Amino acid sequence: MEFSILADTFSKMETTRKRLELTQHLVELFEKTPQQVISKIVYLLQGKLRPDFEGIELGVAEKLAIRAISKSSGIPIKKIETEYRKGGDLGHAASVILEQKTQTTFLMEDITVERVYETLFKIAKIGGTRSQDMKMKYISSLLNDATPIEASFILKILLGTLRLGIAENTVMDGLAITFTGNKENRKILEHAYNVSSDLGKVAEVIASKGLEGIEAFQIELFNPIRPMLADRIRSEEEAVEKMGEKFAAEYKLDGERVQLHIEGQKVVLFSRSLENITSYYPDIIEKIPKSIQADKVILEAEIVAINENSGEFLPFQELMHRRRKYRIEKAISQYPITVNFFDVLYYNETSCLELGYEQRRKLLEKIVKENDFVKHVPMIIVTNKNEIEEFLENSINSGCEGLMLKMLDKPYQAGSRGSHWLKLKREYRNELGDSLDLVVIGAFFGKGRRTGRYGTLLLATYEDDQDTFTSICKVGTGFTDDDLDQLYQILSDKVTIKKNPRIDSNMEADVWFEPELVIEVVASEITLSPIHKAARDEIRKNTGLALRFPKFTGKIRIEKAAEDASTNEEVITLYKGQKKIAHDKNRM
Ligand code: ATP
Repeated sequence: MEFSILADTFSKMETTRKRLELTQHLVELFEKTPQQVISKIVYLLQGKLRPDFEGIELGVAEKLAIRAISKSSGIPIKKIETEYRKGGDLGHAASVILEQKTQTTFLMEDITVERVYETLFKIAKIGGTRSQDMKMKYISSLLNDATPIEASFILKILLGTLRLGIAENTVMDGLAITFTGNKENRKILEHAYNVSSDLGKVAEVIASKGLEGIEAFQIELFNPIRPMLADRIRSEEEAVEKMGEKFAAEYKLDGERVQLHIEGQKVVLFSRSLENITSYYPDIIEKIPKSIQADKVILEAEIVAINENSGEFLPFQELMHRRRKYRIEKAISQYPITVNFFDVLYYNETSCLELGYEQRRKLLEKIVKENDFVKHVPMIIVTNKNEIEEFLENSINSGCEGLMLKMLDKPYQAGSRGSHWLKLKREYRNELGDSLDLVVIGAFFGKGRRTGRYGTLLLATYEDDQDTFTSICKVGTGFTDDDLDQLYQILSDKVTIKKNPRIDSNMEADVWFEPELVIEVVASEITLSPIHKAARDEIRKNTGLALRFPKFTGKIRIEKAAEDASTNEEVITLYKGQKKIAHDKNRM
């Protein structure tokens, strides 16, 4: 398939954010796509080469890309840098530069999607001492044969700056319309995506086997399942109101959620955002198989740091020490953990997702043998408010965040946040009712004690409909000196020359970041805001929502991707909830 078809679609998509128009462009593209390249097209549309969980990163630096452009165009590096500074988009700058190309290539080879994909794949896989030279050779070989517009998109993919604003749901809409003629069938595709986390694979199956193939889609070991998420509630009363007469209450442990895929001695761990985190926990890999009574199984657990002497749970932050590549052995002995199991999703070739919670829990207890390292998450069946309160108290006293409440007869809803699971946290009793996980999009330099570091951060919520990050507040309190140093270090790698197009903010920050890092904040209330862009026009026209007196809680949510941050929908619910409380109080 000619790469120009894809580049054409990319250019059309870049001019719109409207979901219907994007879907239309996708349908036109998929109609022209041969079956054997559809998965590649789907990955490339998302600026990827493979599903996220495979961890294949292109990781090409701007400098290298500039050298490659210079090599294939004959134009000096300085001139390319000047052009780049004008617009802040190297892909675009390359297309302008290549228009002025002084070297001509006589034997131009056709650029196909297959060739671009294979070359990018090679670039991603190259390691070793000569890797930079090899990468440059591959990039300039592509640029030599590319038209300016093709070159601009090849570079955007390489640099990770292709932002078409298409959410996964929009891709599935496009697939459903193209291959089944009915957008409603997206629901069936969604199921396949939720159990595989691989949109390329879903595309391949629908294109080659149609709906029947999708309906027969099976869970595969070592392919992560998208996690089920919980709605939040504020009180024991609300729990009883929403959950009915009898339900399960489990401790909500403050650790790292992990999905374990196990077959014999082979264990692979996926984080909440489905990143492969196996290398951080060699102790789990070594010890877990002995506790598992199953041939093949997918389980969910919370990894929690513990105090070895008292057995008490320690806060999530302690697990940060495990995020290192070197001297992991030392971290294992210094920061011991336990693995606390709470669900089973797949057991000996059979999916468990359709089983009710109670059945899954029974099965889990049968499969996982407890010892010092391996535990079942504490659980009781509750029927009233007092029982919940007492269990909540116990949970908090042993170092947990609160409770997870789960309906007894409900299946595991992969990939969705719903009311079959509810979370009741201690902070929910504070003024706002909950903490929020927000994306750091910009910063302002500090003064006084904070000179040379960022004094205030600009934060955003995730707008999942548009795939954008909308500003919601500036935060400058709650940071210790260590926090400021650590954040400065992490964020320095994420600085961009221009504001990323997915960021929606009117503010003039001193620096802008790639929207990647998620931190937790609390606040006293949510107010209407003429400046901020979160939930703009949702409550009142030309007005957004903002956090009042926000404060950093000390938690950097390394396990969350930016797309897992609090959404505007959640903020609107909190805003309405606080209104309701104020209204109820006034009536008392
Ligand atoms: P939070 O910010 O509250 O951790 P979240 O967005 O990561 O929430 P939710 O589904 O809203 O995810 O809350 C559930 C989270 O709580 C899980 O992701 C998991 O890490 C953690 N957790 C702790 N104990 C349990 C448990 N018993 N059952 C399920 N999840 C648990």
